[in-house]
Amino acid sequence: MDYRGIFEDAVDALRQEKRYRVFADLERIAGKFPRALYRDSADNAREITIWCSNDYLGMGQHDSVVSAMQQTAGRLGVGAGGTRNISGTNRPLVELERSLADLHRKEGALVFTSGFVSNEAAISTIARLMPDCVIFSDQLNHASMIQGVRQSGMQKHIFRHNDVAHLRELLAATDRKRPKLICFESVYSMDGDIAPIAEICDLAEEFGALTYIDEVHAVGMYGERGGGICEREGLMDRIDIIEGTLAKGFGVMGGYITANKAIIDAVRSYAPEFIFTTALPPALCAAARASIEHLKKSSVERQQHKRQARLTKAILADAGLPVMDTPTHIVPLMVGDARLCKAASDMLMDKHNIYIQPINYPTVPKGTERLRITPTPLHTDEMVFELRHALVSVWASLEIPREQASAEITASKLTSGDLTLPTVGG
Ligand SMILES: *Cc1c(COP(=O)(O)O)cnc(C)c1O
Repeated sequence: MDYRGIFEDAVDALRQEKRYRVFADLERIAGKFPRALYRDSADNAREITIWCSNDYLGMGQHDSVVSAMQQTAGRLGVGAGGTRNISGTNRPLVELERSLADLHRKEGALVFTSGFVSNEAAISTIARLMPDCVIFSDQLNHASMIQGVRQSGMQKHIFRHNDVAHLRELLAATDRKRPKLICFESVYSMDGDIAPIAEICDLAEEFGALTYIDEVHAVGMYGERGGGICEREGLMDRIDIIEGTLAKGFGVMGGYITANKAIIDAVRSYAPEFIFTTALPPALCAAARASIEHLKKSSVERQQHKRQARLTKAILADAGLPVMDTPTHIVPLMVGDARLCKAASDMLMDKHNIYIQPINYPTVPKGTERLRITPTPLHTDEMVFELRHALVSVWASLEIPREQASAEITASKLTSGDLTLPTVGG
């Protein structure tokens, strides 16, 4: 039996579809965000600018977050030493869960090793505990939510993305007496669009369904205290389960759900993904909590984030680059071809020291391959202009079509206020 050949063939199939993934070897430089050392295939290092990180606010290098981790590791050591049930429930973890419940104004919170695990564990466990439950799941839900739905083994209906009329149809066609769970996201990370949350809550009320929202791409970044889109729109109390990550806007690692005490206690008691794994280490919990608490009080990061995202969109669109218009901080640049998308990414890195990972199938549908750009508060105006220059040059070299550039947005126009942008602190 040629076991080795089986695996090589499997990977070759991906190569042929232009889906083979190459990871960038990075060493982020604390204090120089978003700069990092990149090592090429020959292990030669050079400094580059990252334009595709999900450390959306740079909190992974924030002084208060880094020192919380260092100090806690010094005092409590590095590992948790056990599962939650057997000696692993450490004080910083307890405090972290309180901080999260407070963030979303819920009775309780439960922390998992990642956002992926929190979705898989919570959705599957909650659905399984409701006899004869039917799940209604948005068509573009993240892989971790799909995994949770599958794992529950319950009947499911997929509604067209953000299509409230379709969701209504599916709910109306379901026996009123059966328990129902509606699963969706607030910010969808690849298109950067936002769900009609209030309308979905209206439907949930009308048809007696439980609501589960993934706010992974919104926590820390939206709302008065960083509670996400639901906080911004005054809808937190209308959602039964809010899920989030500690790894993106908060810049650390781990995932969580918040909900009423009954749901939290049930997931805590029944989800194998929660029970049979070692608890998060105290230093990591302390760092995550420092980040959450900082962002509850400080809005400077959110305002500057919004400004740099709007600036990036305006500058790139102005150069005739195919920026998708989004109501969020995510800036997708459509390429529409897997090979070109990879080539553009390679050229940005090799010629311009700019790192933007190509996003190909199955993360996005075939024909919608793109560069997903994530400006942060720490990308300077100068970096945005460098990005524009690099992209225009790459688009020309690869002969990717772009629209006619309008009158150039220049640095002077920007400072003279010709471009309407929110001001920091305003
Ligand atoms: C990244 C992501 C997750 C998983 O979060 P991790 O903490 O990275 O495991 C869950 N949902 C969505 C929508 C995501 O994009």
